[in-house]
Amino acid sequence: METVLSGIRPTGNLHLGNYFGALRNFIDMQNEHNCFFFIADYHSLTTHPTPHDLHGNVRQILVEYLAAGLDPEKSTLYVQSDVPEVIELYLFLNMNAYVGELERCTSFKDKIRQQPENVNAGLLTYPTLMAADILIHRATKVPVGKDQEQHLEMARTFGNRFNRLYNCNYFPEPQAFNFGKELIKIPGLNGSGKMGKSEGEGNAIFLADEPEAIRKKVMKAVTDAGPTVPNQAKPEAIQNIFQLMRVVSAPETLSYFEEQYNSCHIRYGDMKKQLAQDMIAFTEPIRERIKAISADEAYVSRAARIGREKARESASKTIREVREIIGFKSF
Ligand code: AMP
Repeated sequence: METVLSGIRPTGNLHLGNYFGALRNFIDMQNEHNCFFFIADYHSLTTHPTPHDLHGNVRQILVEYLAAGLDPEKSTLYVQSDVPEVIELYLFLNMNAYVGELERCTSFKDKIRQQPENVNAGLLTYPTLMAADILIHRATKVPVGKDQEQHLEMARTFGNRFNRLYNCNYFPEPQAFNFGKELIKIPGLNGSGKMGKSEGEGNAIFLADEPEAIRKKVMKAVTDAGPTVPNQAKPEAIQNIFQLMRVVSAPETLSYFEEQYNSCHIRYGDMKKQLAQDMIAFTEPIRERIKAISADEAYVSRAARIGREKARESASKTIREVREIIGFKSF
């Protein structure tokens, strides 16, 4: 059994890309591994959210993760700022992190370009906070996308550096977690490559979307005039519709429309109607649970408390041991 850790940025509602690309794997993993999932609200301060937005976004993500199937009893689902031990480890790691290596980090360079008016020290030390998130539970596996590989490498560097400095073998090396299957990319509805909330209006289907909203977005999805030659290769926008159908519809439905396409009989209107129907059926139970959980303050706070207690137990053990290794002694 591995100790697995993954962070979630509290930025808006979850969409089908988040579900099929990450969440579904997390739900499976919690039966096999010791899983920690946290909502990265300390990290989100680099962009200066208002107090109202900060709390609302954290709550929404917590509710949606619970609704989708993360089980607070099986895994440790917690809010990062509920575990201040993370900050103490962040400070210790910062003492051994070099400004030069932090400045060379690709994501820091990107951020400087994206928000030149707000290049704060939190952005520079993002990799040490991420290393603290991982090392605080001495996690061995971290599910990461391509964009996070460099940060994971830095977490290994900081953990190993600590071990060398204090001549111990305390922190294990966290490795990228491979779900054992190909990472799938969920395309958007506007013909673009990826479903995402910042990819434009109508591109993403959110788990909390009402049926009417889903129907509207799907019916507006980009298509073309249709194939003119049997077994014609599909252009990107059409591949996207098929890929979406592959994840939410029955295999028979998919093969029916494949045949219709290959024989040039396809009517995209019919296909989109079916796709919308299947997306609605798929998201319906999750949407209902989102509503029920969101209205149940006692359940939300109980889930947060269970997560906080488990996360703090693990984190405070690490901090106790790290303090001892460093040489802090109480008088
Ligand atoms: P984001 O909130 O956009 O950073 O997404 C969080 C995680 O959801 C990512 O690290 C991916 O694992 C997953 N994800 C987001 N969008 C997609 C997508 N269109 N297809 C597959 N996975 C996605």
